[in-house]
Amino acid sequence: MTELLLNFVAGRWQAGSGAGTPLFDPVLGTELVRVDATGLDLPAAFAFAREQGGAALRALTYRQRASLLAAVVKVLQANRDAYDEIATANSGTVKNDSAVDIDGGIFTLSTYAKLGDSLGDRRFLFDGEAARLGKDPLFQSQHVRVPTRGLALFINAFNFPGWGLWEKAAPALLSGVPVIIKPATATAWLTQRMVRDVVDAGVLPAGALSVICGSSAGLLDQLQAFDVLSFTGSAETAALIRSHPAVAQRSVRVNIEADSLNSALLLPGEDSDSPAFELLVKEVAREMTVKSGQKCTAIRRVLVPEALYAPAAAAISARLAKATVGNPRNEAVRMGALVNRAQLNTVREGLAHLQAQTELLHDGTTHALVDADPAVACCVGPTLLGVRNAAGSDSADRVHDVEVFGPVATLLPYRDLPHALALVRRGQGSLVASLYGSDPAALAAAALELADSHGRVHIISPDVAALQTGHGNVMPQSLHGGPGRAGGGEELGGLRALDFYHRRAAVQASTVVLAALPQD
Ligand code: NAP
Repeated sequence: MTELLLNFVAGRWQAGSGAGTPLFDPVLGTELVRVDATGLDLPAAFAFAREQGGAALRALTYRQRASLLAAVVKVLQANRDAYDEIATANSGTVKNDSAVDIDGGIFTLSTYAKLGDSLGDRRFLFDGEAARLGKDPLFQSQHVRVPTRGLALFINAFNFPGWGLWEKAAPALLSGVPVIIKPATATAWLTQRMVRDVVDAGVLPAGALSVICGSSAGLLDQLQAFDVLSFTGSAETAALIRSHPAVAQRSVRVNIEADSLNSALLLPGEDSDSPAFELLVKEVAREMTVKSGQKCTAIRRVLVPEALYAPAAAAISARLAKATVGNPRNEAVRMGALVNRAQLNTVREGLAHLQAQTELLHDGTTHALVDADPAVACCVGPTLLGVRNAAGSDSADRVHDVEVFGPVATLLPYRDLPHALALVRRGQGSLVASLYGSDPAALAAAALELADSHGRVHIISPDVAALQTGHGNVMPQSLHGGPGRAGGGEELGGLRALDFYHRRAAVQASTVVLAALPQD
């Protein structure tokens, strides 16, 4: 029997009472560890976090909580090698892809440690200036933001077990709100190990951080009015969460990050020799292959002027052909595995679904696996699909509707810019769109056209070719989330992330009373 990972709740490491669900190596097929949350006393676990963890965190100032984040950073850095090994074994990712998750999480924590320090030694935030409520200026309204006196429950997706925890926990803990994390079962090991290291190091107050590995059963039932819930995962699970009584009846604040059909758009006026064309080709090939396309922000739709369809198809395919796929332990391999067999099957089914309306431009099945048994390893080569003409981009409705969560994208030719923008908007709200071109005014105008339907518009012009942070990389300074089918959530964006964990209230009083509110 493999090791059964413990849950950390109510200040103690606790085993579930069931046999456990096994986690596997997606390349070798071996069982790694098991997780189980059966029989945990959830009411006690939630009460401990809410009462003990919440009170301890709220007693600190923003600056003091920022120093807790900095201490967590040190713990994670000290144990980084172990995380790499777990990611290789459980997520099947090559070192660079594991780093996106592990170092991305550490970087996000450090960013919030710095941002939090800038808030100083205070325990609440002013929100704007006081406003007079009548002719006499004595009676005014001052808005304040105070940490919510509940806990934050995170239900996370399998693709970012490291970053997914810390990008949410950093702003929550900085706000003074305790965290219970329920990682996706398939990759729960890395999350559990990171929490274990932080708990063992004793850097956070009791109750500030808990981890529950295994089934989500019963978790939402525990949520109370001042708790918040942050969910990342599929649209189907998101729909269940939205209709749960905690959200529908008890007004638990909820943030949802769901699936998204992100686009890359080459603006009109560029030819196939232009730097902008080359930048698009490079970014698309990179985004399709990083983490085997298992990124919610990955490029799924690539839009080019109709005349550039054939050159773009050839150039992207040529880059994809160089991708070596297989065992991440082999130095020659650039792209590892999908997370498990279920995802491999889902990706294959999704591909077949899209192929019914598209042509195959680069076939992922032509990639022989390096150092991996195709009968066991959940590896798949990158596949580029396309529709031949602009009319096809309109009629191929599936490519605007179905997210294949793997190394798959579709090339879509467009007639003119209005057509291109309309096609991008067929995604019904996305996390990110990237624009490629060399005319600053045209790029800026297109960004504003897409801003209402995207959480982020990433512009790659030749002057920032070497500086740009990547279409799919989520930077803590910028907003992450998107309207519509992307879930309607907002995360990160620097200190904006603290809004979710604070309650805004208007204090209406004499200016003499308002002046008595602590100023620093
Ligand atoms: P999923 O099946 O919806 O699972 C997500 C999480 O929800 C897991 O922790 C899962 O636990 C849990 N869960 C399952 N059923 C639940 C229920 N009835 N009540 C409460 N929680 C429940 O999603 P997935 O297939 O793992 O994730 C892939 C999807 O996530 C993709 O569509 C991707 O686009 C999206 N995603 C979005 C973002 C973003 O930031 N927008 C980031 C990453 C991924 P178990 O694992 O134990 O079932």
